[in-house]
Amino acid sequence: MNRTLIQFFEWYLPEDGQHWNRLAGESGYLASLGITDVWMPPAYKGQAGKSDVGYGVYDLYDLGEFDQKGTVATKYGTREEYLRAVEACHRAGMKVWADIVLNHRMGADEAETVRAGAVSSRNRNQEIAPDAEIRAWTKFTFPGRKGKYSDFVWDWHCFDGVDWDDRQKQHQIFELEGKSWETAVDSENGNYDYLMGADLDMKNPAVLEELDRWGKWYLDTVGMDGFRLDAVKHISADFFPRWLGKLRRDSGRDLPAVGEYWHPDARVLKSYLEQCSRVMRLFDVPLHFKFRQLSGADGNFDLGSLFRDTLAGIEPDYAVTFVDNHDTQPGQALESWVAPWCRPLAYACILLRSEGLPCVFYGDLYGIPHSGIPPVPELERLMLARKRYAYGPQRDYLDSSDVIGWVREGDPAHPGSGMAVALTDRGEGRKRMYAGPGFAGRLFLDFLGNRREAVRIGADGWADFPVNGGSVSVWVPAS
Ligand code: CA
Repeated sequence: MNRTLIQFFEWYLPEDGQHWNRLAGESGYLASLGITDVWMPPAYKGQAGKSDVGYGVYDLYDLGEFDQKGTVATKYGTREEYLRAVEACHRAGMKVWADIVLNHRMGADEAETVRAGAVSSRNRNQEIAPDAEIRAWTKFTFPGRKGKYSDFVWDWHCFDGVDWDDRQKQHQIFELEGKSWETAVDSENGNYDYLMGADLDMKNPAVLEELDRWGKWYLDTVGMDGFRLDAVKHISADFFPRWLGKLRRDSGRDLPAVGEYWHPDARVLKSYLEQCSRVMRLFDVPLHFKFRQLSGADGNFDLGSLFRDTLAGIEPDYAVTFVDNHDTQPGQALESWVAPWCRPLAYACILLRSEGLPCVFYGDLYGIPHSGIPPVPELERLMLARKRYAYGPQRDYLDSSDVIGWVREGDPAHPGSGMAVALTDRGEGRKRMYAGPGFAGRLFLDFLGNRREAVRIGADGWADFPVNGGSVSVWVPAS
C-alpha cells in the first residue's frame, strides 16, 4: 500500500491536554483513510507549560510526567496518555514519527553571569559590541524532575548563543565568550546557526554525549518508528548523521526521518541532502511555494512548470511533500497559506503522483476552528483515491500552462487500480491522455464527483478527461 504521512496537529489546538487521547480515538479512522505514518507534535515540556506547542523546549525528559512549568501534562496530555496514543497507532498498523527539537532550549531555571559579544542580527559573523558581562538564562537544573532519567545539568558551556541579556534587559544576539557559531549551517544572515533561545553548542562533547543518551532513552521509552527533525538548517550538517546513525546502528532499526530545512530553493535542499549524507528526507518547501503562487495567480500560473525546481522534481526519493503546516497556517511566523480553491488541486498533486512521500495536514482534515477554517471537503476522497488507485507507472501530461494531467497505469498487486487526473487553474477544460491498452473500452468515473458523466476509454487506449474550472477530477475505472 502507498505510504501516507499525517501531521497530526496544527498550531491552535485547544490547550486541553486531550490531544494524545484524540489521536488514540482517531487512529482507526486515520488508518482507514490510508494513513500509514503519524507525525506527532513535540511531546516534551516546553517553557510555556500547558500552552507550549512544543518547540519552546525546556526538558526533553519530561513527557508530561513532572510538575514543571506549572503543569504535569503538556499541551497534549500526560506521559501515560502519550504512550497509549503511540500504542493505539501501532495497533491500527501505523508507524509513529516523533518530533525532535534539538537546536535550542528555553525557560532556564537560573541565569548565569557570562561574557559574550553582541553580533548583528543580519550578519551573525559581524560583532557589533565586544565581549562584556551579561546575565544569560542558560542554567537548566530541572528541579521538578530531580535527576530522574538523567542528572545532566545544562549550563552556559553547553550553548554558543543567547538573545537576551537580563542585566541590561536587552534583546540582541550574543555569541558567548570562547564560542564560535557552527559553520556547516545555512548561510542566511551570514551564519544561521542561531535561531532562538539558548542555542546548543554541538561542538561540545558533553552535549553530544547527553543527546545520545537522551535519544536512546526516548526510543526505548516510546518505541517510535521515525523522526521529524526540527530546524535542521540551524544545526551543523554533521550532527544528524552522527546522532541518527548511532541510534540506527544501536537499535538495528531503519528509523526513517524527515528534516525541516525551510528554504524555497530546491538546489539548497539538494546540497544539504549531500552534506548530511542523505540520512533524512526533507520537506519539499519549494513545492509548497509553487502551490502558494498557483493559488494567488488568478489563472496565470504556468501549470506545466509546477513540479520544475521542486524537491519532488529533482530528488523524488528524498522529498516529503505537503501543502501547508503549523508554521505556514494563518497567524504563524511563516504564514503562506494556499488559498482554499487550490487546496484540492495541491492535495491531488501530492497524493496521487509517484514522487515524494505526502504529508497531510491535520488542519485540512479536521479544520482549524481557531481561524474559522473548515476541513478541505475533497480531502478524504483524495486520500482514499491514493490508497485504492494511485499505483503503477505514471505518464505525465504537464504540457500546457492551463490544463495538466497524469495517468497511473495501475498494477496487478492492487486490483482495480489505475487513474487519470486532470486539473486546471482556468475555466472548464479537458485533457487527452493515454490510459493504457488494458483500459480500452472501459468506463471511468470522477472519484471526487466533480464531474457527473462517465468517460469511455477509446479502443486505442486514449480518452479526453474533462475537468471543471479551477478544479481537479480524479478519473478511476468504474467497477
Ligand atoms: Ca543552532
